[in-house]
Amino acid sequence: MSDETNPFESLQEQIDDAAAHLDVDDGVIERLKNPERVLETNLTVELDDGSLETVRAYRSQFNGDRGPYKGGIRYHPGVTRDEVKALSGWMVYKCATVDIPYGGGKGGISIDPTQYSEAELERITRAFATELRPLIGEDRDIPAPDVNTGQREMNWIKDTYETLENTTAPGVITGKAIDSGGSAGRVEATGRSTMLAAREVFDWIGEQVEGASVAVQGYGNAGWIAADLLDDVGATVVAVSDSGGGIHDPRGLDPVDVKEHKNETGSVVGYGDAEELTNEELLTLDVDLLVPAALENAIDAELAEAVQAEVVVEAANGPLTPGADDVLAERDVWVVPDILANAGGVTVSYFEWVQNRQRFSWTEERVNEELERVITDAFDGLVDAYETHDLRNLRTAAYVVAVQRVIDAAEQAGTWP
Ligand code: NAD
Repeated sequence: MSDETNPFESLQEQIDDAAAHLDVDDGVIERLKNPERVLETNLTVELDDGSLETVRAYRSQFNGDRGPYKGGIRYHPGVTRDEVKALSGWMVYKCATVDIPYGGGKGGISIDPTQYSEAELERITRAFATELRPLIGEDRDIPAPDVNTGQREMNWIKDTYETLENTTAPGVITGKAIDSGGSAGRVEATGRSTMLAAREVFDWIGEQVEGASVAVQGYGNAGWIAADLLDDVGATVVAVSDSGGGIHDPRGLDPVDVKEHKNETGSVVGYGDAEELTNEELLTLDVDLLVPAALENAIDAELAEAVQAEVVVEAANGPLTPGADDVLAERDVWVVPDILANAGGVTVSYFEWVQNRQRFSWTEERVNEELERVITDAFDGLVDAYETHDLRNLRTAAYVVAVQRVIDAAEQAGTWP
C-alpha cells in the first residue's frame, strides 16, 4: 500500500483535471480547491485508570455553496489535517455528482479506537461533540459515520448536542440508530450504491454483473454489504480482506458466513478452507470486478500495472492515487469513481435528514427505490459528460459535472462583499 501520496494533493489534481474542460476563472478554481475553514482542536479526556490523555481532532468545512456542510467522522491513527481536508472536499463533489443539496465537510480524531474502552470512547466522542457544537447544526453542518464510527457514536453526538442546546434536533447528525431518528436502509446504503454502480457500468460496457467474479478489499460497513449485495445479484465474491489479511476461494465465498466469522474472530482470516492471501495479492487477482473498500491510496501506479480486473468500483474514498488512475485509464480498465460509487451513504443520510425534518419515516422500500433513482441518474450524467467532452475516464466526467454544479451555485449567489 502506498502511503506517500497526500490525499489533499490528489483532490486538488482531480479538480484541476476537470477545470481544464470547463470555462472557469482561475480565482474561482482556487476557491474550489481549498476548504472554507478547518477546526483543529485538542480533546483532553479522563481514561478509566484516572489518568488524562489529550488527542487531536479536526473538522473541515470545505464548501457550502450548494447547502449545509455534510460528511462523516473518522476515528483512525492515520487521521491528519490534510486527510480530513481531502475527505471534506470529496464530499462536496460527491454531493454535487449525485445532485443532493449539500456542501461538504469531514471530521476525524487521530486515535486507534481499539485501544480504548467503550466508556473512554464515549467521553472522547462527547468531548468532540462539545467542541463541534458551535459549528454544527441541522442547517449548518451535519456529520455522519465514517471509518470506525457508527450508530453508537452518532447517538452520543446527537445526545450531547441536544442536551447542550436544550432542544430536539435529530437532523444534526445522520447514521443514527432507527430508534434515535435513523433511516431504514442507511447501514446498507454505501454497499448498495457500490452494487448499483457495478451493475450500471457492466451494463454500459455491454456485459453483466451476474456471473462476474469479485474481489473486495476491506470488510467493514462499505465492503461487506457491497459483497453481500453483489452476491445477491448473482456475482461471485471470490476474495475479501480486512486489516488482518485476505481470503480466497475461486468457488465463491458466502459473504454472510464470512461476516459472522469476522464478528466472532475479529478478522476474515481463518474462514473455512479458503486459502489466505495478502492484500496486494487480492488487489491484483484475476477477477472481473475489484472493489477497494478500505482506505485511501490502496493502489498506486506500480500496483495498478498489475491489476487484472476489468472494472474497479471504488467503495472507499480515494483508494487510487492519481498515478494509479492514469495507469488504469491507459490500460482501459473502467473505474467508477468514489464520488459516485459510494455516494449511497450520503444520499441515504440526506433521506434520513429529510425524514427528520418532516418528522415522518419512509419505508425501506421507498429509501431503496429513491436511492436507485439517484445513483442510476447520476451514472447516466457521468456517461453523458464522458461522451460529450471525450474525457479520459469516468472520474474526470464526475468532476466535470460536479465542479460545474458548484460553480453554478456560487455564481447564482454572487460574490459578496
Ligand atoms: P469500517 O471501519 O466499517 O471498515 C473498514 C474496513 O477496512 C475494515 O474491515 C478494516 O479491517 C479494513 N482495512 C483497514 N485497513 C486495511 C488494509 N490495509 N487492507 C485491507 N483492509 C483494511 O469503514 P467503512 O465505513 O466501511 O469505510 C470504508 C471506506 O468507505 C472508507 O474509505 C470510507 O471513507 C468509505 N465510505 C464509507 C461510507 C459509510 O457510510 N460507512 C460512506 C462513504 C464512503
